[in-house]
Amino acid sequence: MLLVTRDEWGARPPKRPLAPITRTAGVKIHYEGTEVPLALAGDHSRCAPRMRALQASHLADPVEDYNDIAYTAVVCPHGAVYVGRGPGFRTGANGNSTLNAGHYAVCAMVGSSGLTEPTPEQLGGLVDAIEWLRAEGGAGAEVRGHRDGYATSCPGEPLYRWVQAGAPRPGAPTAPAPEPEPPAEPTPARYRTTIHGLEYGYGAHGPQVRDVGEALVHRGFGRHYAVGPDEDWRDPDTLNYQEFQRSLGYTGSDADGVPGIVTLQLLLGRIPGQPEVSLAHIIEAARTDPGAAQGHQTYGAEVRIVEQALTDEGFLDPAWGDGSFGTRTVQGYAAFQRHLGYTGAAADGIPGRASLERLSVGRFTVTD
Ligand SMILES: [Zn+2]
Ligand SMILES: [Zn+2]
Repeated sequence: MLLVTRDEWGARPPKRPLAPITRTAGVKIHYEGTEVPLALAGDHSRCAPRMRALQASHLADPVEDYNDIAYTAVVCPHGAVYVGRGPGFRTGANGNSTLNAGHYAVCAMVGSSGLTEPTPEQLGGLVDAIEWLRAEGGAGAEVRGHRDGYATSCPGEPLYRWVQAGAPRPGAPTAPAPEPEPPAEPTPARYRTTIHGLEYGYGAHGPQVRDVGEALVHRGFGRHYAVGPDEDWRDPDTLNYQEFQRSLGYTGSDADGVPGIVTLQLLLGRIPGQPEVSLAHIIEAARTDPGAAQGHQTYGAEVRIVEQALTDEGFLDPAWGDGSFGTRTVQGYAAFQRHLGYTGAAADGIPGRASLERLSVGRFTVTD
């Protein structure tokens, strides 16, 4: 960047102190709007005198009563950047005090007649000035024309087209960057998980895989199947399961298409391979065993499953997990019911469907 300081171009000091500014939204581009002689383009020695003349005309303006040259910077046809008010000071060129505080003002020595087209060096200088104001003056990313937000023809059609094109540096590649390769379809998750002794996920095999596939199709998540689901878990199973997970609100790795116990329960209403516990059997045991001989078993195998769950949850000492739904087990179940928020007769230790299903999650399937 060819920066020409105020001393170097022979600026006069401002009439009054300039208003400081710390940030702007960016830069507005201006042109002189009067005739700029074509000969200027061939004679850089005329540029500094032109700056002095420009400043003098602003200082003498009877209407505006400028403190200084109105522009933040001016760029000559040779690409030199002349410091006007400079970074850190409010411009006087954008139309009113709000606009002047909103953007810096950079003017190109381009006219409405004579030199009407900016030279490539000049466009490069404008980019230099913009980058300098961003670095030194807190200028934001915007590059606009004076006419943006104010009724004026400034900065003229050629410069305004350049602004609208994004104020590119001449010679910089204008062709858009080559399109990035579209991202490859990510490979669906390819791992297996075991739930109640049965495998799910890529490569899993068995009737539980078909059960999942058929349930997915039934619920409308079958679009990735070219042929119907079978007992081998392949990518389409994963993709369909992923859509089911997403429909439940899961995201990221929680929706990778490999089942977890909660989504599997929601999909199937049960977990394949889980033992079944009859609600009626458990109620009968809870009503019979406490009054019978110590250790009496009514449906011992099913009671043992429920007792194990109560122990796992911390409501029953493992010593009482004996298959008999005795007094201690009733007390333990009552504690579990209270833990769920039940009170009174609803927390009497005799299982109901709702509490038993809560206890069953991930452990057993409740049947009638
Ligand atoms: Zn202007
Ligand atoms: Zn010049």
